[in-house]
Amino acid sequence: MPRVLILGGGAAGLFCGYRLKELKERDWGIVEAGQSGGGLARSKTDSKGFVWDVGGHTFTPKDRRYAVLFESIMKKDYLAHDKNSFAMVTGRLIRSPFQKNISALPSHLSARCTTDFMSRNATANVSDFENMLLSRFGRSISELFLLPYNRKAWKTDLKTLNTAWVEDSMGPISLDDLNGTTDTNKQKILYPARGGFGSFFERLSQSIHENILFEKTVTSVDIVNRVVRVNDSEVIPYEILINTLPLNCLLELIRHRERGAFRHHLVSTPLAVVGIGLSGKSRFEGKSWIYVPNPDVLFHRITFISNFSHNNAPVNCWSLMCEITPYGAIKDVASITRQTISDLRRIAVLQKTSNIESTHFEYINRAYPVPMLLRDDRLRQINGFLNSHDIFSIGRFGSWIYERSNTDCIFTDSVALVDRLCSSRQITIE
Ligand SMILES: Cc1cc2nc3c(=O)[nH]c(=O)nc-3n(C[C@H](O)[C@H](O)[C@H](O)COP(=O)(O)OP(=O)(O)OC[C@H]3O[C@@H](n4cnc5c(N)ncnc54)[C@H](O)[C@@H]3O)c2cc1C
Repeated sequence: MPRVLILGGGAAGLFCGYRLKELKERDWGIVEAGQSGGGLARSKTDSKGFVWDVGGHTFTPKDRRYAVLFESIMKKDYLAHDKNSFAMVTGRLIRSPFQKNISALPSHLSARCTTDFMSRNATANVSDFENMLLSRFGRSISELFLLPYNRKAWKTDLKTLNTAWVEDSMGPISLDDLNGTTDTNKQKILYPARGGFGSFFERLSQSIHENILFEKTVTSVDIVNRVVRVNDSEVIPYEILINTLPLNCLLELIRHRERGAFRHHLVSTPLAVVGIGLSGKSRFEGKSWIYVPNPDVLFHRITFISNFSHNNAPVNCWSLMCEITPYGAIKDVASITRQTISDLRRIAVLQKTSNIESTHFEYINRAYPVPMLLRDDRLRQINGFLNSHDIFSIGRFGSWIYERSNTDCIFTDSVALVDRLCSSRQITIE
């Protein structure tokens, strides 16, 4: 009987498994609905030879132990680049972060940004994201980029978002920071040389495959008798459960009586990704991605995926992916692809003469956990209940904490959880 049962074989489940194996624990297993591991961190190769990730993905391991694991799994089979990202504002490419590079704007706009920045009410007591932007950066910086971009990406009223997630990318700045004197764009990004972002997780999954049960969909969790039912039939007992499935799905699986009440706080946005594979020479060599705040352009981000590894496109080809936050499920893939190509031409990323060799489409029903204002109180309530039944929930939607939802933070949280569980069974996640 597995002492520890892990639900889900995405990044979080695989990191927990890796750590349990490293600690030489034997009684554990992962149940995964898919035929392979990786979850959102997977890559596909299309029939023309273009490699597509599920939206723009790169490795930025801040946790040294994650960097060590990445090296040990990838050996020398990866590439390192400088992050080279931009915001498209007034038709110009302004180096990211926008608020630190306003001197690249037309001079009248950059002067207005500076004046507004100096007269902002920086000490205002604000708790929501929209008002935080205005008080931290002033009206012009906010309205030229930060507000329209975030409205487009979140498709949620920004006054209903908290501010817990902003410190990395939108932390406080001084007047000296406005003009790009402090270079924050020099962060290194790592990327597998072959097979896309997901190839790291494929290899990680292979390293612990003997403990993973694939094609096993969890259909109920009985927290009293401590058994998980998979594929509506098989029963798997557990002592400790690590959940990496979306928290709202787990509440459904255990038939938590308040699962309906939590619905308003466990909010997520979907994502549509349109990939375009082209032949010829790219004019965007060396660029990582561009944020596009314009409300009349369909997508909010363009990622130049073949710049992460030229093996992501066939010889003499290049590729990009456009990310769109739709209002609901996409019914007409052909029309969204046509509109994406037309908008790429309108903003001069593609030209009339660009040769499109391949297109790719991916719809992710649940892509971003939205950081709602009352999120942390509700999560404390849910985790308190789960922990009292020896259930620990982590991962992008297992924790539902946006600022902990890239693989770097998930690695740190997974290792910390396994370490605590192995040393004591009485620990609760705060
Ligand atoms: C657009 C986008 C860009 C991103 N960019 C980056 C980036 O640049 N760098 C970075 O580090 N991270 C990035 N991330 C985050 C990264 O992809 C995710 O954090 C990570 O893959 C999530 O892992 P997870 O294990 O928490 O969840 P998931 O990947 O969702 O894994 C959950 C697993 O559970 C399985 N499952 C679901 N239901 C059941 C069931 N009933 N029974 C059994 N199994 C089930 C699923 O099949 C899946 O494999 C990005 C994410 C997105 C969406």
